[in-house]
Amino acid sequence: MLIDSHAHIDSPRYAEDRGAMLRRAWDAGVGGVLAIGIGEEPAEMQRALEICREFQGQPETPRLWASAGVYPHETGKLDEALLAKLDGLLKEPEVIACGEIGLDYYHEGAPHEVQRAGLRRQLEIAAARKRPILIHCRGKDGAGHGEGDAWDELFPILEEHWARTGLGGIMHCFGGGWEQARRSLDMGFLVSFAGNLTYPKAQALRDVAAQMPLDGLLVETDAPWLAPAANRGKRNEPAFVAQTALILAEIKGVPVEEIAGETTKNFERLFHVRVGVGN
Ligand SMILES: [Zn+2]
Repeated sequence: MLIDSHAHIDSPRYAEDRGAMLRRAWDAGVGGVLAIGIGEEPAEMQRALEICREFQGQPETPRLWASAGVYPHETGKLDEALLAKLDGLLKEPEVIACGEIGLDYYHEGAPHEVQRAGLRRQLEIAAARKRPILIHCRGKDGAGHGEGDAWDELFPILEEHWARTGLGGIMHCFGGGWEQARRSLDMGFLVSFAGNLTYPKAQALRDVAAQMPLDGLLVETDAPWLAPAANRGKRNEPAFVAQTALILAEIKGVPVEEIAGETTKNFERLFHVRVGVGN
């Protein structure tokens, strides 16, 4: 059983075939999906939870959980009402994570200091609700490492405001180097690889994955974006997480069943959930 640790299944791009898309995931061996609750904008933050409730328990459908959070470039909208809404969502038993939150210095959008302040406010709420966090971190160039860049500004914030909670989280769609992976592991985070691991130019990322301990790994799709090489440029969906697991198995030199087993175990440990129970 695989778990897709990050998919935007609330996307309008699944409006026509969401149920069938989830059954395809089940057929591909995906036993669980974490539905990311950022919406197309913060006003739709609850959509992931709604979809989770709509499809939970249907036959031949993965177990579903949801998250809630305000994306870095939407942090300019973070007022008291939005923070209260986030807090209310994180109280729900199906909403097991706060995210995706973090820093994005790659695209033009919210000023960096607004992103950092928004991140800190959401960390407070996640800590109070005892929910692990899903971090999006993307630097000015691919690496994001260096003075004033995203990773180097992220770690001090997490070390000051998050590490002591012991709740951990996920570095989603990991794109950093080994140094960033190691610091994440040291802080109790899992490192999640997406379909870009399969791209021909991603050798540096595969080199990082090769060094990763099996108990620190997750796989995800970030669907509907970032389809793996075989489907690149098309709409992505949770079924395709199997392709990322396959290349990870090649990189680590282990059977793909072991990648599935280990990543599922890691997800269950972080969130105190059991896939295949309560469906
Ligand atoms: Zn995402």
